[in-house]
Amino acid sequence: MKPILYAAAIVMASAPALAQNDFSDVEIKTANVAKGVYMLQGAGGNIGLSVGEDGAFLIDDQFAPLNEKILAAIAAVTDKPVEFVLNTHYHGDHTGGNEPLGKSGAHIIAHDNVRARLAKAEAETPAAALPVITFSDTTTFHWNGQEIYIFHPENAHTDGDAIVYFRKLNVVHMGDAMFSGRYLYRY
Ligand SMILES: [Zn+2]
Repeated sequence: MKPILYAAAIVMASAPALAQNDFSDVEIKTANVAKGVYMLQGAGGNIGLSVGEDGAFLIDDQFAPLNEKILAAIAAVTDKPVEFVLNTHYHGDHTGGNEPLGKSGAHIIAHDNVRARLAKAEAETPAAALPVITFSDTTTFHWNGQEIYIFHPENAHTDGDAIVYFRKLNVVHMGDAMFSGRYLYRY
């Protein structure tokens, strides 16, 4: 069976909003990818969302000013809080929402190098925005009835990419490792 792939291909469409740094016109669009898995599109890298009994598991979080809109989109498909946020890499359109989510109690997960890069970023990253769980190679979440397998492709888009594979659903969240239809896009 061909896996369902989704990634940041829509990011280019959002460029004007990014340039103006004004997110007031951004709408979050929700697409159901598979049972219990959604893709949210707003501005920046697409967001993955797993919902179910255990709580919301978010993949990337775009920008802090979009946090309320993103939470509203999540609340439209689940009444459970966001328990985990995985950052697929350190870029701002994938980690910008970390601080508000971290403050509201979500546990942020990322590759070791993502945390290292955020921690030594020029504009100091607030503590609440830093991952509290990191991994070097692979990790698996047994969550919402799924096996959420997360692995690090070496030297892909950055030095800290994570690709997320929902084993039972054959769904892959690529992050920017797939960008504009190309695999292993290098920034
Ligand atoms: Zn990126």
